Amino acid sequence: MHLTTNALVLREANYKESDKILTLLTEEGKLTVSARGCRKKGSLIASACQLLAWGEFTLYEFNGLWSVKETASERLFDGIRGDLEKVALASYFVEVTEALAEEGQPELGLLLMTLNCLHALDKLNVPLTQVKTAFEWRSMALAGYEPQIERCAVCGRPEPMEPHIHLGEGMVHCAPCRERLGEGVSMPLTTAALAALRHITWGPRKRLLSFRLDQDGLKRLSDASEAYLMTRLERGFRTLDFYKRLRIER
Ligand SMILES: [Zn+2]
Repeated sequence: MHLTTNALVLREANYKESDKILTLLTEEGKLTVSARGCRKKGSLIASACQLLAWGEFTLYEFNGLWSVKETASERLFDGIRGDLEKVALASYFVEVTEALAEEGQPELGLLLMTLNCLHALDKLNVPLTQVKTAFEWRSMALAGYEPQIERCAVCGRPEPMEPHIHLGEGMVHCAPCRERLGEGVSMPLTTAALAALRHITWGPRKRLLSFRLDQDGLKRLSDASEAYLMTRLERGFRTLDFYKRLRIER
């Protein structure tokens, strides 16, 4: 069986002398494939068979195993590859995407959103923290973990006073309403950060990054998105740890 599809390489591992095992997110869903000979000198599929490459893959299946036959028109996001912080952040994005995508199930929204964020790192001059928080909030919404952000979950006020987000409940609330929610951690936002969160969650994908926040608002939104993602997925990401170490060392 043959399949030609666009795909993003989410993970690569060397195998044998000159092969790789790749995890792809294709338009049809997540797929593990082998890329035979792609590490040989002069291999025509080498370029597309690397982490963070996006391209057209022709795959064939034999005995339930998929292999790469040909690749074409790849995009390599060269603006990311020359910058270690961007590589680390992009690697975190694809590690989260891999964790959220289920094998054999189309994840087109997640795929397109991840590509948007990689494009932003590659070509746009947007602060990395802004791309990161937008990715985290939107990926959570796409994975079915959209927080309740319409109004205060306790008193119903459309614009919560001193807005906070309760990580465990996934609810926005006013600071004074905190005691009526259950145990767990609530993190502070600002009114502008909550507006940005609504834009990220509900706005059109292509305008995902079209918001502006001051430094304090962006930091709160970003601290909250990272903590929310960890709380929901109940795990950490080694690529995130690496990215954060790089940021501290700057
Ligand atoms: Zn309230």
